[in-house]
Amino acid sequence: MQLAQRISSINEPQTIKMAKLSRELKAQGVSIVDLSLGEPDFRTPEHICEAAIKAINEGYTKYPPVAGYPELLEAISLKLKRDNNLDYPPNQIIVSTGAKQSLANAVLCLVDPGDEVIIPTPFWVTYASQVQMAGGVVKYINCGIDNDFKLTPEQLEANITSKTKLFMFSSPCNPTGSVYSREELAGLAEVFMRHPYVNIISDEIYEYINFTGHHQSIAQFDELKDRVVVINGMSKGFAMTGWRMGYLAGPAELVRACDKLQAQFTSGANTIAQRASITAMLSDLSATYKMVDAYKERRDYFIAALAKIPGIKINMPHGAFYAFPDISSFYGKTDGETVIENDTDLSMYLLNKGHVTTVCGSAFGDTQCIRLSFATSMTNLREAVKRMGNALGQLK
Ligand code: PLP
Repeated sequence: MQLAQRISSINEPQTIKMAKLSRELKAQGVSIVDLSLGEPDFRTPEHICEAAIKAINEGYTKYPPVAGYPELLEAISLKLKRDNNLDYPPNQIIVSTGAKQSLANAVLCLVDPGDEVIIPTPFWVTYASQVQMAGGVVKYINCGIDNDFKLTPEQLEANITSKTKLFMFSSPCNPTGSVYSREELAGLAEVFMRHPYVNIISDEIYEYINFTGHHQSIAQFDELKDRVVVINGMSKGFAMTGWRMGYLAGPAELVRACDKLQAQFTSGANTIAQRASITAMLSDLSATYKMVDAYKERRDYFIAALAKIPGIKINMPHGAFYAFPDISSFYGKTDGETVIENDTDLSMYLLNKGHVTTVCGSAFGDTQCIRLSFATSMTNLREAVKRMGNALGQLK
């Protein structure tokens, strides 16, 4: 069968590939510590699960409105005011099957073939795949560990051209854990104000998993608000990855376009998950904060322990649940059997010799680093550090 070009150029995400390899080794009886997946290890809070059961009993089992139940759009609108001081009425919000679909909707509604889309690297790999499927041209800007993997206004200014249609980024960032401060966002906003045709997708899915204080959104700058698209969802903050519930807030015109697209693709998001999400949005956030406290404890231990392994250079992630160490000092080294030439080799070496699953940095546009998730127990993290220390210590 001759597949369309649009899919032939898209690779399987490395995160999924590594998880598969790790499952295969587990099936052979090898004990693996899996730090490859970007998913909370907690159960969805009980009050949210109860709301879903209630929704089934109350008969919320028919097609929903394409954009989402009005009560959910209202609840998200209240949340955006409560947590972010942002004014988005329900007609400027649409819910989708995960933040991933919200992103895809926005990209497909904004990017024409040949349009340039700026993505600072390291970045979440899905952005580039979605832009490529829309026919857009990705322009990467490399942001190194020495600037905490953050984009500077100067870098942004130097990369905008007359073809730039869109800028996409996440804060807190997957994979680096970097969090932009209000001042840093203001610096970028100033550049965007000089380029009124550039739209901005601000992926805020890790909003609550922020160890520095209050989340800042680039949508807070009024001069930009009519071209900012805020992406968020329930997966990370409420440990609801499997419920597939995300949303987008932006200009009403874009929301109407996404509604049109979604009407053809899915007819709207799952009804039970939508009803449960109303509860997630409107309840107090104590269950979320409890999870965040656990992530912080794990982060503090994990980063300090990784930093002690000779050859690892690491920044402090201020949000999300990933460590993104620079491991390039191991390039050219060998344990006498395997030669490490790049990040993929090191990631495979750690899996095969250390029995720890990681994801190579090139999956996120950075060939010097690997990504490790600390959304797992302290016991697993301690074991991972021990195994990595031993495996990396063999490389001479
Ligand atoms: N954005 C980023 C940066 C992510 O890391 C993820 C999931 O890993 C998503 C969006 C998608 O989340 P969802 O589960 O809501 O599709």
